[in-house]
Amino acid sequence: MKLLFVSTSVGALGTGLGGGVELTIKNIAQALQQRGHQIQVVAPTESVLTGIPVREISGNLQVPAQTQDRDVPICLPDNSVLANMWEYARQVQADFDVIVNFAYDWLPFYLTPFFSRPVAHLVSMASVSNAMDRVIKGAIAQFPDYIAFHSYAQAATFGLTDSCRCLGNAIDLSLYRFGEIATSNLAWIGRIAPEKALEDAVVAAQKTGITLKIFGKIQDKDYWEKICRDYPDAPIEYVGFLSTAQLQQQLSQCQALLMTPRWVEAFGNVAIEALACGVPVIAYRRGGPSEIVRDGETGFLVEPDSITGLVDAIARLDEIDRHACREQAEQEFSLEAMGDRTEKWFEEILQK
Ligand code: UDP
Repeated sequence: MKLLFVSTSVGALGTGLGGGVELTIKNIAQALQQRGHQIQVVAPTESVLTGIPVREISGNLQVPAQTQDRDVPICLPDNSVLANMWEYARQVQADFDVIVNFAYDWLPFYLTPFFSRPVAHLVSMASVSNAMDRVIKGAIAQFPDYIAFHSYAQAATFGLTDSCRCLGNAIDLSLYRFGEIATSNLAWIGRIAPEKALEDAVVAAQKTGITLKIFGKIQDKDYWEKICRDYPDAPIEYVGFLSTAQLQQQLSQCQALLMTPRWVEAFGNVAIEALACGVPVIAYRRGGPSEIVRDGETGFLVEPDSITGLVDAIARLDEIDRHACREQAEQEFSLEAMGDRTEKWFEEILQK
């Protein structure tokens, strides 16, 4: 198949601004390339993606939907990179079998019936915008096979049932090495933004006295500075936004990953990255992580927003066998498994 992957419009690939979508595109493109399919990725200028052809498109970035209220109108800046990417997709569509949208943007859903080629959508976030809910539901009603989600919990936020297509996600397991515990450190990984509720992990670190290493892009500077002001004595260490190679190396030495999102996480790539390193995941029982972590076996699922729950789970970490974490990643989250699922999705679209 010839596939055109259209990236997120909130940031260039490699900057971290696109969150998990950046790794998702890279991994699915790689998995399908390995099977002999031809992939081109369309992404904002200055995108970095090794091993996969990228067509860079200039223009102004979109404001991420999760930073806005549910009822704000859909807005595009002047010289919108989103509009420019989809104009490019329109021009080259005859060269491809399927166009795949990875962005949580209104425009590609709206444009779907106007394209002569199928436009598949892998929805990357749960419901955060009324206008998005409407356009996604409209696309599903018209083209039910074109839409896929990462988790059932995510699909449920759009009022959809278990019958929708859920692809989970995957990582290149060869890039993540199993690590025996080398330090007592806890890890927290993600975009530093309010929906991720880093402060809960910081409080848990303060209560246990265990150092929390923080990895990720500071997307909301005011939010980060407030955390530093509110918890000046918490044992935290901000490491920065690391490459996958550096991230897995440091993560694999940690005792556990804390995942404390306030929102319904569509999936949570960082959970499977931790499992691949043999690192147990302590997560709120909400959204994607609740479908990933095997409670008591590869981590703990705790009452959402409960710091006590986090602290209690940290105290029980010696019950978890790190080999079971790596095994789960190998069984469920390999690129091959994801390649099978996405290939099947596109084949079904083409058959119909
Ligand atoms: N990430 C990274 N380097 C870091 C911290 C995070 O590459 O130092 C990546 C991580 O590998 C993951 C993404 O950031 O792919 C976060 O994705 P996730 O699905 O957990 O959350 P999202 O940002 O999409 O809400």
